[in-house]
Amino acid sequence: MEKKIINQKIYISEEEKTLEWSEIQTAFKKTFGNEIYNSWLQKISLVKEYNDYLILGVPTRFFRDWIVSRYLDKILEQVKNFKLSLTRIEFKIIEENKQNQEILQIDELNKVTEIKDSILNYNRLNPNLNFNNFIEGKSNDIALSYSRKACENVTRYNPLYICGGVGLGKTHLLNAIGLELQSDNNVMFISAERFMYHFIKSIKKNDMVNFKDFFRKSSIFIIDDIQFISGKESLQEEFFHTFNSLMDKGSQIVISSDRAPSKLDRVQERLKSRLSGGLVVDIDVPDLELKIKIIKKKMEEIQYQFKENINLSDEVINYIATESKTNIRELIGVLNRVVAFNRVHNKELTITDCKNILKDVFNQIRVITIDKIQNVVSNYFNIALSEMLSQRRSRPLARPRQIAMYLAKKMTTRSLPEIGRRFANRDHTTVIHAVKTITRLSEQDDEMKKNINQIKSLLLEQ
Ligand code: ADP
Ligand code: MG
Repeated sequence: MEKKIINQKIYISEEEKTLEWSEIQTAFKKTFGNEIYNSWLQKISLVKEYNDYLILGVPTRFFRDWIVSRYLDKILEQVKNFKLSLTRIEFKIIEENKQNQEILQIDELNKVTEIKDSILNYNRLNPNLNFNNFIEGKSNDIALSYSRKACENVTRYNPLYICGGVGLGKTHLLNAIGLELQSDNNVMFISAERFMYHFIKSIKKNDMVNFKDFFRKSSIFIIDDIQFISGKESLQEEFFHTFNSLMDKGSQIVISSDRAPSKLDRVQERLKSRLSGGLVVDIDVPDLELKIKIIKKKMEEIQYQFKENINLSDEVINYIATESKTNIRELIGVLNRVVAFNRVHNKELTITDCKNILKDVFNQIRVITIDKIQNVVSNYFNIALSEMLSQRRSRPLARPRQIAMYLAKKMTTRSLPEIGRRFANRDHTTVIHAVKTITRLSEQDDEMKKNINQIKSLLLEQ
């Protein structure tokens, strides 16, 4: 992987990849303040460190959801200061007295050969995303029913292609299929992005034979977010061959994407036609009824897990379901926030409380998109959007571009690689650099601070 020294911050080479967790805890305390630190972050432990990702241990599922919905971005940002190569964090639920045991088990896994090792780390299915807790509604019933059928009757629908917008349950369904089939099959579950990562790594290490072998021997091949291959010729080439060889040997292939095969952008025609050669099903945005069902189910889970009574009136449930318009991930994030408020204040929530709690959540998650940020920023600086996204490096274009990347990181939930892609396919390290530069400038430079604030309020007003 390419490495860069950014802002001369601490740089950790691959050989010395041992994080000092207590130092990071100290940084957390400083950033988040004592109260949040003591109730949440202090309880996070470091389970395992890999070159570009970490497994952190947390005590409960609720704890994990809460941390993920509220603090993940900031945690990632903080840990990155100690480990630049970090791209993601995963959480594992570990009861306190079991922590040491878990570490041992994960170490056992590492005794396999290297390529396997690095792939295994991404091939873990999440036991919490199963068919039992996937709630059926009009927007997803077809996708759900064929996902189940694909498990009962392997290769009948091949490939099974599930498409739909973000946060609507694609990964959940793919994961559920993997769980269902894993006991009797060799299941491979990987995102297209990770697939590419291993592909490139294998090319660099001259280890394509192992790579091909590894992926082609699975009997169930599940690949998430295939839209990622857009514009990546050699990756498409490799995927095409993997696909064909899996089909030839009678493996089941399951694919998810944010759009239908025919709508995939900059993807070879022959591949699109392969992708649509089985069954294509889609998931739509949830209707009110499904959102209410999901809220009620999640409430049940919380009540069961914590043996506590959290009552939300129908009015409040309705309000949350109506207001949360984009997707199910947002809906769950919002619900977690309401539940935490309820827990802290220990009183029945009124609609007014609810509106207050959710005001900034909705402002931040729903309204602000990368497109919108790009438009507002380019308008603000009076430059054409195409110029702002171009490869030209002159300062009058580069600064607004960096500001837009910075705001995309701060105001949306998009990941660094995704932001990079949306800025004319730039690398995520370019985005990190932009975020750091603008963070620094907005602290030092009044003009920059003013610009940022004005742009932010323009974004929030719209
Ligand atoms: P996608 O991969 O389409 O972006 P995910 O599968 O990650 O979406 O879903 C986002 C969140 O919403 C996850 O926490 C998932 O468990 C939850 N979710 C989505 N659909 C449902 C559903 N029908 N029932 C229960 N939870 C759901
Ligand atoms: Mg997903």
